[in-house]
Amino acid sequence: MKTIVIVGGGAAGLQVAIGLGRTLGKKRRARVVLVDRSPTHLWKPLLHEVAAGRVEPTVHHTSFALQAERNHFHFVQGELASLDRTGRVISVATGGTGDGTGATLQAIAYDKLVLAVGGVTQYFGVPGAREHALALDSVSSAEQVRERLHATLRRACARAAAAPQARPPQVRVAIVGAGATGVQLAAQLRRTTRVLNRYGVHRLDPVRDVDISVLEASPTILPGMDRELASRVARQLTKMNIRVATGQKVTSVTAGGLTLDGSNYVDADIVVWAAGVAAPPQIATFGLAVNEKGQARVGSTLQSLDDDNIFAIGDCASCRPTNGANELPTRAQVAYQQALYLQSALPRHMSGKAVEPFAYRDYGSLISLAGGRAVGSLAAARGISGWYVEGKLAALMHHAVYRRHILAINGWGRALVVSLSHGLERLLGAGTRLH
Ligand SMILES: Cc1cc2nc3c(=O)[nH]c(=O)nc-3n(C[C@H](O)[C@H](O)[C@H](O)COP(=O)(O)OP(=O)(O)OC[C@H]3O[C@@H](n4cnc5c(N)ncnc54)[C@H](O)[C@@H]3O)c2cc1C
Repeated sequence: MKTIVIVGGGAAGLQVAIGLGRTLGKKRRARVVLVDRSPTHLWKPLLHEVAAGRVEPTVHHTSFALQAERNHFHFVQGELASLDRTGRVISVATGGTGDGTGATLQAIAYDKLVLAVGGVTQYFGVPGAREHALALDSVSSAEQVRERLHATLRRACARAAAAPQARPPQVRVAIVGAGATGVQLAAQLRRTTRVLNRYGVHRLDPVRDVDISVLEASPTILPGMDRELASRVARQLTKMNIRVATGQKVTSVTAGGLTLDGSNYVDADIVVWAAGVAAPPQIATFGLAVNEKGQARVGSTLQSLDDDNIFAIGDCASCRPTNGANELPTRAQVAYQQALYLQSALPRHMSGKAVEPFAYRDYGSLISLAGGRAVGSLAAARGISGWYVEGKLAALMHHAVYRRHILAINGWGRALVVSLSHGLERLLGAGTRLH
């Protein structure tokens, strides 16, 4: 029996594993293996909500082992260590501690390999950024942001109690990068500072004493997205007392702040780096064609330009579909469509049938701004521009994208129960982690 190995069980990889498991795996037409370094899957677009304490990862994650058993694929927890393209085998470091100590290498042979390892934070070589700024590219990094916010608020409260004459702001949060990640995080953090104040977790004025700014090197926020959408989001951020500074390049980061344009030093208690996404550096070591961000370059059928047996999807892939001029952005919408495509294309590849090229449809963008606020631009896929939604309807649509993901991995019955459990968790608690 032939083996399809998928490395990375994120927005793209888990969807492929489930789809192929339910078809090829169930009928024993192929062995489907999913490898991920983590035992659980959490949908990455929730990370800013994890950072703000709005989403509890243990409530929203799903176990890969459980998904494997239900959907007829095999799961191996481990870190991709190397790839031997000639022998068609990967080695996976399994059973080690978090830093890899004590791990053993397990060889897994493949007939077709799908790389879906996602992206990592891109620091552009800015001095001090990697060392002093917090990232937002994994559950643990999101938890770090939350913990740092709570600790900083507690310290500022103690300082304010000791010196009541101190002038605001007491806490400065600087978010570098006004892409979707940066602006959504800023909005969620603003909401969290208010909620924590309401519950007495801190006694600072959540607006006057907590300064939240978003710094962007490009002339506008949300670079690469619809201009009208960006203006609408900028207006909302201003209403939420979030300072937005565009055309400001961060040139270094230290423990206590950052430098703008090489000369202007700004104090910051917390710096979050949300300025760019690159592929994990490992991809560039496999001898496959990559772009300047280290993403594996793929052709119209999502196969590597150098190896027909290797597919790359999601954030780790550089894809320029035949129906579009530009490289696709690192977004869940792209990952999802590529996963759906591979679910039907891979079985055809396995049986030597002709395969249609991947066609991407841009359904627009939705930016969630916390507290039932969101802004979206819609229907780009149908050639209609200028459809915008705001407020509760946009927030509902944004939420529906996550629910579609829950539905895709769980099926109708379980998706309903899972969604109910998410709702109950919010209803019974404060809706935000208070510690
Ligand atoms: C805060 C935030 C908000 C976002 N909001 C949106 C949004 O609103 N809309 C939108 O379209 N997109 C959004 N995105 C982008 C979106 O999350 C990504 O584009 C999408 O998750 C990419 O899917 P993926 O499967 O390629 O990677 P991921 O979902 O990142 O999955 C990668 C998987 O690979 C595993 N892995 C990585 N390296 C290895 C290895 N060496 N060995 C084994 N396993 C490995 C990881 O554990 C992970 O499970 C957001 C991203 C962030 C960070």
